[in-house]
Amino acid sequence: MKSIRVSRRDFLRKSALTAASAPLWGALLPRVNAGEEPRKLGFALVGLGNLSTNQLAPALQKTKHCRLAGIVTGTPAKAEKWKAKYKLSDKSIYSYDTMEKLADNPDIDVVYVVTPNALHAAHTIKAAKAGKHVLCEKPMEVSTEKCQTMIAECNKAGKQLAIGYRCQFEPHHLECVRLAREKIFGELHLVEAKFGFAIGDPNQWRLKRALSGGGPLMDVGIYALQTTRMITGAEPVSVTATQTKSDDERFKEVEESLTWEMKFPDGIVAKCSTTYNGMGMNDFTVHADKGTFGLSPAYNYGGIRGRRSDGKELRFDSIDQFAAEMDDFAQCILNIKPSKVPGEEGLRDVKIMMAIYEAARTGKMVKLA
Ligand code: NAD
Repeated sequence: MKSIRVSRRDFLRKSALTAASAPLWGALLPRVNAGEEPRKLGFALVGLGNLSTNQLAPALQKTKHCRLAGIVTGTPAKAEKWKAKYKLSDKSIYSYDTMEKLADNPDIDVVYVVTPNALHAAHTIKAAKAGKHVLCEKPMEVSTEKCQTMIAECNKAGKQLAIGYRCQFEPHHLECVRLAREKIFGELHLVEAKFGFAIGDPNQWRLKRALSGGGPLMDVGIYALQTTRMITGAEPVSVTATQTKSDDERFKEVEESLTWEMKFPDGIVAKCSTTYNGMGMNDFTVHADKGTFGLSPAYNYGGIRGRRSDGKELRFDSIDQFAAEMDDFAQCILNIKPSKVPGEEGLRDVKIMMAIYEAARTGKMVKLA
């Protein structure tokens, strides 16, 4: 039988190949002459909900290479409020139905898609067709097919596509990756990661499958999944999962809680949990030959705390993770280099999450090619 093991080297080589085979994104890049400051890239936010309002717009003010240059919203009252607050001109305000007109606005370089999960593909494709680079929130979409279409359309347009994986820019997370890669605690054995919260409003889109694609796994369990892949530097080869259902009306369309176990190459195991019905799940621990290290809380916007079993400090100043993520994408565009969180990375997670759901549904182990 053909082996489905993916070695760490294969994983890294695959990432490099993705980068090498990337299309020519630079065709219409703003040119920078020697000694000239590169201009800040204009970002348009699509969907002015919680994340855009409370995190992304403020973060844009802190970036070095980006600026808020436009908005896409279906609510005229929000448009008025944002126009006044961020001094936006009428020509930088779009509705979901007028997104194709972004093509006529050279002030906007990047479209940041911040709508419910199942709308990410539609908005990404509209942005790519309008000739814009796309940063898309996690989860990338609700099916692997839609993720593949997003990648294909951005490639066809010659534009970069990246996914909003803020933890990939957060110093505590990056330090844990370094500890794992440099084997500071020896060989890895087990990664335990969990993220969940108590969901409020029963009418929100997160609880409606057609818009969310799933429950806490798609929303926050994805962070635990990302941690396991970042820490091991490898891809899981199989997964088993258990889903919790109760009579709670809020969870009639999506799972309430989920735990899953993944096997990685070299015998590394990952145990993960997520929930929409409980607090206190916000940490990870890596168990290795010579000790443990991890973060708790691990996934907040700030105030992340690290611990190492050897007593050494694992502490950095808080950063604005969204500002770091957007600045990184801007630099990728300006320097014509691939993002470390490209569409392919989002697709990998969606593929694994679909396998986790299948394992939970069937009660069987699902192999991942
Ligand atoms: P939200 O409900 O606060 O905002 C969603 C926005 O989409 C609203 O402005 C809403 O009007 C708009 N929208 C457009 N079409 C809609 C429709 N048909 N139904 C419902 N809303 C519609 O959600 P949010 O918390 O801002 O999340 C948006 C995206 O950002 C999601 O994909 C989510 O997973 C992601 N997110 C990421 C993080 C992170 O830390 N990276 C944090 C929160 C949310």
